[in-house]
Amino acid sequence: MKNNKLQNDNIIWHPYTQEKLSNPNIEIKKGLGTLLYTADDKEIIDAISSWWVTIHGHAHPTIAAAIAKQTVELEQVIFAGFTHQPAMNLAKNLIDILPKGYAKVFFSDNGSTAVEVALKMAIQFHSNKGIERQKIIAFENSYHGDTFGAMAISSRGSFHSAFETLLFDVIYLPLPREENIEEVCNLFTNFIEEDNIAAFIYEPLLQAAGGMNIYLPQHLNRLLQIAKERHCISIADEVLTGFGRTGFLFASEAMTIKPDIICLSKGLTGGFMPLGVTVCQQHVYDAFFSNDRSKTFFHGHSYTGNPLACAAANAGIELIRQPLFRENIKRIADQHLRFAKKLDQFSSVSNVRCIGTIIAFDVNNEENTGYFNSIRDKAYDFFLSKNILMRPLGNVLYLLPPYCITDEELGKCYEAIEEFCGSL
Ligand code: PMP
Repeated sequence: MKNNKLQNDNIIWHPYTQEKLSNPNIEIKKGLGTLLYTADDKEIIDAISSWWVTIHGHAHPTIAAAIAKQTVELEQVIFAGFTHQPAMNLAKNLIDILPKGYAKVFFSDNGSTAVEVALKMAIQFHSNKGIERQKIIAFENSYHGDTFGAMAISSRGSFHSAFETLLFDVIYLPLPREENIEEVCNLFTNFIEEDNIAAFIYEPLLQAAGGMNIYLPQHLNRLLQIAKERHCISIADEVLTGFGRTGFLFASEAMTIKPDIICLSKGLTGGFMPLGVTVCQQHVYDAFFSNDRSKTFFHGHSYTGNPLACAAANAGIELIRQPLFRENIKRIADQHLRFAKKLDQFSSVSNVRCIGTIIAFDVNNEENTGYFNSIRDKAYDFFLSKNILMRPLGNVLYLLPPYCITDEELGKCYEAIEEFCGSL
């Protein structure tokens, strides 16, 4: 007999899912640490931190307790004209743990809105100073979210074809590599000097959804230097890279030149609550601080600064401050590096790469179908049959686990990867 609850799933429209071609969704009744427990009592290893958000593990008691406590104190209040302690604490906590130089924290709801806020801030920054600079530079293969502005600045592909004519023009720059760094720097300089570039947005050190492409801090630093010298606002989209993913607490720590604006979300609340923040340096804010009301930053969402989300984030930062946080990141990173050497031996695999708690590799095949590569479904189903949740990006397979993953759970993931790659 069909499960009643799953029957009701028929009236839900799930994200990034072609429902005509997909298997029924799996009902999860409980999460704990790295594990997701299905309604039929299977334990699934969440090897992708549930779309990259769950950093301390599912149902972490410290965060759960902080949210529970907050629910009976203040669940929500309008954030224009009013403020509250959880948001003030969070702003202070973030300024304390971010690289030096950030002054103001603007709240929103998720990664895409954190990016939208950054884009609007950068463009209005120039406009408030009476300067006509509106264009954005982004990297080829970038991904910054699914709202219209975020889609416009992401690399264009089949996801965007229906909207193509509605997306504003963006200048795309190749990702800098040893072999093209001079050319990329020249291109970048010319674009900024010849066009009315307002901002340069980038995912520091790692392009995630675009295929887990890693690039070097010294190359990014050169671009940041060029942007800074030409008063082009630089925006680090640390929605994924923030909170330890790349081995640094924030990837921006790896560069000597810091961006004017940083976007954060995902791990911010430990994966408990939707929340985004856009953090900027004082000089960005100063362009909005005026007797002229038209210079106001006219942006806000109903749930801006939601106290429950802020309480979750504050508890998450408490965990980040404990030694175990960095120990776990190092433990995972070391094991990935060891496994990478083993994986390199497989003829079915190429381009094995590691950064912090992420290991990624390409599965060789002849198709040139990107996200729709047939390896994707084959691998997804194979790992799920082993009770491991992985969600390949086309033929790019990766592990991006919660930091509490045990050595044994990590070992199971590696073993399953060996079995899959050995079978090809
Ligand atoms: N920026 C980056 C770098 C991301 O990886 C993502 C999500 N994968 C986003 C922005 C969008 O975040 P959200 O899904 O929370 O809107």
